[in-house]
Parts: sequence; structure tokens; C-alpha cells
Amino acid sequence: MIWTAVLLMAVVSHVNSVDYCYNEPHCDTYAWGDKFPSCHPLLEEHHSPINLDHQMTRNESLGPLHLEGFDEIQTGHWTLYNDGHSVVLQVGSGMSVSGGGLPDVYHTMQLHFHWGGPATNGSEHTVDRRRYPMEMHIVNMKSIHPNLSVALDDPTGLAVLGFFIDVVYADNVNFGHISQKLSSVAYNGQITKVKPFSLMSLLPKHNMSQYYRYYGSLTTPPCSQAVVWTLYEVPIYISWSQLAQFTSQIFSTEEDAEQVTPLQNNFRHIHPTFSRIVSVSKDGRLLTGTAGRPLRSAVSVLQIVLLGSFVSKL
Ligand SMILES: [Zn+2]
Repeated sequence: MIWTAVLLMAVVSHVNSVDYCYNEPHCDTYAWGDKFPSCHPLLEEHHSPINLDHQMTRNESLGPLHLEGFDEIQTGHWTLYNDGHSVVLQVGSGMSVSGGGLPDVYHTMQLHFHWGGPATNGSEHTVDRRRYPMEMHIVNMKSIHPNLSVALDDPTGLAVLGFFIDVVYADNVNFGHISQKLSSVAYNGQITKVKPFSLMSLLPKHNMSQYYRYYGSLTTPPCSQAVVWTLYEVPIYISWSQLAQFTSQIFSTEEDAEQVTPLQNNFRHIHPTFSRIVSVSKDGRLLTGTAGRPLRSAVSVLQIVLLGSFVSKL
């Protein structure tokens, strides 16, 4: 009896430790701080995601990252699973990222996705307030750390590579490695094996030297401020039907749940950059696009602000 109670408590506390959601008021992104104190968006804290705008600093020393093993087909097998918050591809050892201003070598652990709904976009980071349909995160852990909990105590313990995903009519054949397996992980807790493939085949073929860099946090609880973010400028393109597989055919509930809930809008809200510097790589193009634009006078900015506040009251 006692053991049953102890076991039950252990199970319940385990469930509570991962109890967060995106779309219900009692557990959505604004409520995360109630259960996970480090998710509270306090002033001067380094939270993610952020909006990327023209307030960036060019850093000529930021060249392309070295993606070791990404163009090879690894041995063994990988695992794709639905954890109720995303679809995660756990990759084996053999891949790492370094260079490009990263302070160390980071071993690649997993990649996962954030998306919106059938008619809404769902990237986590935004560019000029524009949200892309999806965002992919490749999570890498500093190789000196024995495990994730140690890495989360290090302000640069993780290096996450973020890729925006945009939509075109043609299927992305390489993305098929993942999309063809999605039906096997439609429900929370489902897991399937995936044959290793070249991770590089998922990524944009060109312009990998164009990216943004800032220091931030995990975008899921416990929101640890331990992430060196690299956000690539050029998106990955997939088809409408490949996107729809995520927005309509993945569920946050288990297969035998009485009420089935689609997993949608699994992105955290935008946080201020405060005093943080957002860098653009040597080859990044965002700043050059605005180089010739004349500065507005203070008067016209005031007019725009007043007009904006008027419009927002409509
Ligand atoms: Zn993520």
C-alpha cells in the first residue's frame, strides 16, 4: 500500500515536472513561470525567442560554422518521438558543431520543430515581426559536459541552430525522411525508429554563412538561460502538404485519450532583447538591405507613434 502510494507520488511528480502546454490559460507560455521560476520574463534576463530586426551589429569574425558529420550517414538508428510538445528526432553520436564564434565544440543531440495551425504561422523567432510557418531547432550540447543538467547551468552550455521553414508547392524530398514517419508518432508518447540520413540534406544548400547570433534561453521549460543561438537567414522549404502533416496530424494527447487535441501553435511568445547584442554574421544580409534607407526625423517618428497608438485603439 505504502509502496503503491510512493510509486504513485513518484509518477505524479514526474508528470508535474513536465506539465506545461501552449494553448490552455492555466499552463500556457505566460503561466510557465508559476511552475518553472526561471521561465519568468524578468527585466534584463536573457530569454528566447526574440524578434530579429535591424538593430543588429555586424560581426566580421562570424564565419560559417563547422558541421562535423552532418554530410555523412551515421551508423545505428535514430529515434523519432512525440513528447506531447513537439516531434523530436534523437540522433546518435558522431555529429558536432563548432567554429562560427562558438566558444567550444558541441555534440549534436536532437532536432525538433515548432509550428502554428492550419491557417497560422508558428515559428518561434520572428523577422521584422513576421512569423514563418515553422522553425526547426538542432540542439547541441557542449562536449565537456557529462549531461544536460550540467550544461543548463552553463550560460553557453547549449548551441541551438535555428532554421526557419517556409512553404512552396513542391515536396522537399529530403524532408521526406521525417515527414514519411510522422504518422507513426501522431500521438503523445509514440516512438519510431528512423534510418540515419545526411542531416545536411535537410539544410539550405547555399548561404549557410548568413546567420544571426545572440545569447538566450531554452524556449521550453525550464527556460534555462544557457543557449548560444544561431539563426540562419535562408529558410528550409517544404510543401503545403508536408506542413499540414504537422499542423493537422500531430496530437498533444495520447492515442487512447477520450478527447483528442491537435498539437498546434507550439511556440513561446517573443521576449525583449534588452541590452543584448544581436550579431549578424560576416556574410549576413539583413543590415545591407537597409543601408540606403534615410533616417526618419524625430518629428515624423512621433507622428508615427501617435498614429500607431490611435490605430491600435480602433
Ligand atoms: Zn525548440
